[in-house]
Amino acid sequence: MKRILVTGGAGFIGSAVVRQLLAETDHSVINLDKLTYAANLASLPGAGTHPRYAFEKVDICDGDALRAVFARHRPDAVMHLAAESHVDRSIDGPGDFIQTNIVGTFRLLEAARGHWAGLPEAERAAFRFHHISTDEVFGTLGADGLFTETTAYSPNSPYSASKASSDHLVRAWHETYGLPVVLTNCSNNYGPYHFPEKLIPLIILKGLAGQPMPVYGAGDNIRDWLYVEDHARALRLVLDKGVIGESYNIGGHNERTNIAVVKTICALLDELAPAGAPHERLITYVTDRPGHDKRYAIDAGKIERELGWRPLETFETGLRKTVAWYLENRSWWQSILDGSYSGERLGLTSGTAP
Ligand code: NAD
Repeated sequence: MKRILVTGGAGFIGSAVVRQLLAETDHSVINLDKLTYAANLASLPGAGTHPRYAFEKVDICDGDALRAVFARHRPDAVMHLAAESHVDRSIDGPGDFIQTNIVGTFRLLEAARGHWAGLPEAERAAFRFHHISTDEVFGTLGADGLFTETTAYSPNSPYSASKASSDHLVRAWHETYGLPVVLTNCSNNYGPYHFPEKLIPLIILKGLAGQPMPVYGAGDNIRDWLYVEDHARALRLVLDKGVIGESYNIGGHNERTNIAVVKTICALLDELAPAGAPHERLITYVTDRPGHDKRYAIDAGKIERELGWRPLETFETGLRKTVAWYLENRSWWQSILDGSYSGERLGLTSGTAP
């Protein structure tokens, strides 16, 4: 039984990790989250009263607050997911991405290092700092090829550049100070509790509202999709069994063009919410994202060979579960649409002036 500090546990992937840790393990969870627009504690039903759960509303850029959390909870491991995560927002305003993803990761590494250095020998050896990152650090692929763990970093957006920076910091804290780290780089996630600015929930909700479904450019950009619960399982496995200093690519073997994803959602909506059928009539091509990476595809062979991980969901089964979840959990997303985000287009400006 461990005490695991999860940063960003009120976000999309972090909340899946916290839900799994509480439901499927004996570990205690300390959820450290600033509660930005992307956070939602309603994504953690029942956690607030769970005996193995604690919540700390803290900004990872605040070193003093981080040190206090480490002193109070004495975690055995950190799973670092807190980040600004939306590429379009990073185009409109890159500053928050530099602060949270780079400066915040630096502050967290320093707080973790201070805590780790003061641990007794056996606990020092068992401690882990797990950095959760993205395949977008590798840049874009042509028609062929896959990202492996040795692919050179070549990030193209402010978001992916900030995540590449944080990956490098984490690796350096291992090489320089010996902090026991593991890293993972994952493809696009989808599933329940996904903030509706991202493609899949946005298209589902536009479809339910009978509004135009925006598809960037010609819709031919390719992403490799992974169901969020499969990602959370992979993260738990890497934390338990990953080799210190190593990185692991995580992907779903599910390459799809964006337009194919949208059409699959339309077919599911036609079946599960037939009132608006045919939903494909709502597809609307809009101006492409500046610097839009053409194709991402992950070679997840290393985590499969070395740790025995494989996704449980295919894209079809995972997407069906996802559409059904949004149909059954209207209050979760309705409160977001009534508050912090109403489905507007982001990421077309040339950025906020410095
Ligand atoms: P998200 O935007 O849904 O959630 C991010 C969480 O971090 C939110 O709860 C937010 O409040 C918190 N946060 C943001 N800034 C913070 C700060 N300064 N201090 C403390 N908390 C802060 O993101 P997500 O989609 O769940 O992604 C989680 C992690 O996984 C990110 O690091 C992201 O780069 C990575 N990742 C995401 C995907 C994906 O498809 N979503 C794929 C691969 C990797």
